[in-house]
Amino acid sequence: MDTHSLLDTIRREIHRRRRMSARLMVAFSVVTVLGFSAVCGSVLLDMRRGAEDLARQMLENLAASIGADIDRNVELYDASLRSVASNLLLPELDSVEPATARLILFDHLASAPHFGTVRVYNQYGDLTRDSAVLHPTKDNRSDQPFFTVHRDQPYFGLYISDPQQLDGRYSVVLSRRISGPDGQFLGVVAGSIQFGYFQDLFKRLRLRPNDMIAVIAQDGTLIVRTPFTPELIGKNMMFTPGVQKMFEHRSGWFDGVGTLDRVERMFVWSDSTKPLVVLVAKSWDDIYAMWRREATWIGIVLLVLATFVAAVTVFFIHEIERRAQAERRLEELATTDPLTGLTNRRKFDAAIDTEWRRAIRQNTPIALLMIDADHFKAYNDSFGHQAGDQMLVGVAVCIADTVHRAGDCAARFGGEEFAVLLPGLTAPAAEAVAETIRRKVEQWSDVEGGVTVSIGVASTTPTTPQHWHDLVEAADRALYAAKELGRNRCVVAVRGEVTLVA
Ligand code: GH3
Ligand code: MG
Ligand code: MG
Repeated sequence: MDTHSLLDTIRREIHRRRRMSARLMVAFSVVTVLGFSAVCGSVLLDMRRGAEDLARQMLENLAASIGADIDRNVELYDASLRSVASNLLLPELDSVEPATARLILFDHLASAPHFGTVRVYNQYGDLTRDSAVLHPTKDNRSDQPFFTVHRDQPYFGLYISDPQQLDGRYSVVLSRRISGPDGQFLGVVAGSIQFGYFQDLFKRLRLRPNDMIAVIAQDGTLIVRTPFTPELIGKNMMFTPGVQKMFEHRSGWFDGVGTLDRVERMFVWSDSTKPLVVLVAKSWDDIYAMWRREATWIGIVLLVLATFVAAVTVFFIHEIERRAQAERRLEELATTDPLTGLTNRRKFDAAIDTEWRRAIRQNTPIALLMIDADHFKAYNDSFGHQAGDQMLVGVAVCIADTVHRAGDCAARFGGEEFAVLLPGLTAPAAEAVAETIRRKVEQWSDVEGGVTVSIGVASTTPTTPQHWHDLVEAADRALYAAKELGRNRCVVAVRGEVTLVA
């Protein structure tokens, strides 16, 4: 391999590597950004799930602890009602003073700020005893559910009423049946727990504005709720799918929208088998608030990073392209003849070397024209060197105008000599091209003041022992012959005169 083809190979390798590095750069940036996005996306999803789990756990604990408090108080109050119901059966009760009877019945009642008075009604619904007064006023409650339920269903147990307003205050009535020794209905003992109890309980908690706590009875009736909404108190919530689900599973959660405020919340309950079930809810906005802040920050950082990587990539690709362009320009300058714009001798040598080897490989002909301006010294002498230069440019234009095919190479060989390489052309075809060039120069210079060219044509289908120098030599000899024969003509190298044959 000679110097020219070695240089060409190195140049091609540099270009290939440069294209590769630009592509690698883009691929690397895309993979980096995608990788970062994937990692951040997965971390964010995990964090979101974590926020959800944490909220669910927290709400479940809250529901359990509120439920336990309500349960304890209801049990306490129920124990009082049951002790009154059983003490009422003591035979001594009728024989003692009313004040003593009151002491026996009510003295050991559980007392708490929001527990109402305990009253006893006989089997007809008449008020017979009251823990608050010695002589209760006449009152009949035989039409009230807390009475009728025990009269009609002997084994009902503890009855908890719907919320109702007593003396302007919301409360729930709790009642128990008084059964005689044979199980006969003797009346009911009833008391009440005021809403103040629930309000005090909820006040102790630090709730956010969109948090919600509801206490729901087993039949789906909403007993109490915070934030307090009188229009919902006493309403049956069984129609909502969430509350239905609540009674289907002992504990769990559902996603629901607030009946009044339309806020989307996570609802959690911990035990729906209790007489009063506690349902607590937190808005999704509050649950995700912290996560959203973190996600926004991570998103911003990721965006900045992606922008930076993109900017660096664009910068480097631009730089690679700029350098490639500068090198192409330099190469162009290094391989172009500055006067005529044709390929220079250096590049021509490389081109003929490449094409010669290709012709050997493919067993195809290759032709060469050697073109020389006639009597150019005389022209220079007559019109000056500058005009001579212009004339050379004109000749070059005539040549370039004729030679177009890919692989063809028109070069300034030196001084007023030009060479045209025509791969694939046999001698007659090459002669035709030569003749076209000769005629073009003749026609053009006729206008300008007279320079003609002589052209030596050589063509061969090369074989390995030959060298392209042989082709140049043959074309040169043909050119010499053209000069000898009187100039302004084309001569084809033929067997005998030159070593090459078309
Ligand atoms: P022939 O027909 O035998 O080729 O005669 P010739 O005068 O062209 O040949 P010769 O080799 O005696 O002279 C070549 C002349 O070409 C000499 C030189 O002044 C001129 N020449 C060579 N290079 C340039 C150039 O770049 N510009 C100009 N203006 N003239 C050049
Ligand atoms: Mg010459
Ligand atoms: Mg000449």
